[in-house]
Amino acid sequence: MTKLRPLASHLKSKLKLTESSATSTASPTPTPYYLFNATNNRIRDEIHFATSSDVTQAINDASSAQEQWCRNYTPSQRAQIIQNASSILARRSDEITQQEVKDTARAKSEIKGYDVPSAVRHLSYYANMPSILSNGTYHDIGHSPSFAYVKREPIGVTAGIGAWNYPLMNAVAKSAPALSFGNAMLFKPSELTPNSALILAQIYEEAGVPPGVFQVLLGDGSIGSELVKSPVVSKVSFTGSVETGIKLRQAQAASTCTSTNFQKMTLELGGKSPLIIMDDANLDEAVTGAMQANWYSNGQVCSNGTRVFVHEYLKEEFLEKLVERTKLLKIGDPMQEDTVIGPMVSENHMNKVLDYIDIGKNVDKAHLFYGGERVGGCLEHGFYLTPAIFTDCNDQMRIVQEEVFGMLMSVLTFQDEEEVLSRANATNFGLAAGIFTNDIKRAHRMASYLKAGTVWINNYNLGPVELPWGGCKHSGVGRENGSYDAAFEWTVSKSVYVEMNSL
Ligand code: NAD
Repeated sequence: MTKLRPLASHLKSKLKLTESSATSTASPTPTPYYLFNATNNRIRDEIHFATSSDVTQAINDASSAQEQWCRNYTPSQRAQIIQNASSILARRSDEITQQEVKDTARAKSEIKGYDVPSAVRHLSYYANMPSILSNGTYHDIGHSPSFAYVKREPIGVTAGIGAWNYPLMNAVAKSAPALSFGNAMLFKPSELTPNSALILAQIYEEAGVPPGVFQVLLGDGSIGSELVKSPVVSKVSFTGSVETGIKLRQAQAASTCTSTNFQKMTLELGGKSPLIIMDDANLDEAVTGAMQANWYSNGQVCSNGTRVFVHEYLKEEFLEKLVERTKLLKIGDPMQEDTVIGPMVSENHMNKVLDYIDIGKNVDKAHLFYGGERVGGCLEHGFYLTPAIFTDCNDQMRIVQEEVFGMLMSVLTFQDEEEVLSRANATNFGLAAGIFTNDIKRAHRMASYLKAGTVWINNYNLGPVELPWGGCKHSGVGRENGSYDAAFEWTVSKSVYVEMNSL
């Protein structure tokens, strides 16, 4: 059975785990952690965190399981198992969609239409990747017949730590390549959204992944921190905020002194991405792009293009069309098929977004052109907000510089290409950027100048598995997805020199 810490109890009833803190080793009092329904603020689930001893046991189990997984299974046997997981996930898509909607409060249409099919595709894409990419490369080194070859080998025991906005995608984007390339993974989902990782663990088990190779540890940051500090965990793949990413780097540096390992670490962090609408853009498409870049997933997307630079010539018309179309989006229960905007994931997060709206109005003194209010009426008990559009913004404002992670769009104007590029890059973040223009040379020129991990031309927020994903500057380091990038991230190379001549 694939080990879940503690899935057994999850299967028996609901999520019944044991609470932990970074220091607790004895049996703690099992204080439940409550999950709230974002549509009505009622308790919907109760979980207990893993204990420190659960973490230690999980790491030990992963260590021996990884040896078996890598040595006793050929890449094609592993490929078959991961491919099975893809098929099982496709079969269980309705169930996992329901759980993901409950956890994230994102619209069902998004999760059904994007997250679950993407997760199925990720598993399928990585299943055979090791057979294609990790075979040795032969080198004729010039002292014939001596030669050398390079093998790509698994890293060993790895950890994945996920954020709450795309929990299934986080778990799959990390574990699919990790497992395919022969690693074991301990996955810690966000404490707000644990359910899809637990279902994924069941799926891996049913697909034939041996016990211990993929384990889920429920808990808060203290559990994540224990994984980072472990000398056995050789790679951490983290998705979350810049603030936590910095803490992980600090913890890693401190523990390296007492460990025998330099741990690899991938950080997929936040953003404050620019979306640039040039004067020759197709305006209707640019408005679609701006909405996709700001309202999708209730604004809770790391790559959102929240700094919308509109050529001053287009500003009035852009705002008119944007408001007209934003008003039509249905805000409501995320389980309903026609809902486009659901509630914020939690009360805390809603309050954070409302605080930024207040900062925009009263500290930055920008103009709240549309929305930015809590929704009342029959939705008053949920964490619902209307999308906020600010105008009269400048580059120094807090709402323009800081990641809000909610539906808050800042509209800025510009006059020429050089100006807008330098302003677009004037941020500590570098996750993504978008350009709307009909001039093909300009599009590629601008794409090459923008400091971002991904640039979309005439579209926004698409993330196919084939394309490497990650940021520069404070948006992170390392890449997820892609083919060669995944091979580099989830394996280490070993060079073998073969002397064929007499010495
Ligand atoms: P967060 O940083 O608060 O938490 C992320 C994860 O880290 C959670 O599982 C949390 O329990 C864990 N954690 C917290 N403290 C820790 C510690 N000291 N050591 C180890 N783990 C710890 O982020 P969040 O609020 O869950 O997610 C929102 C953030 O994630 C936003 O900034 C968003 O931009 C970013 N994000 C980035 C990407 C990307 O691909 N770049 C994708 C999704 C979300």
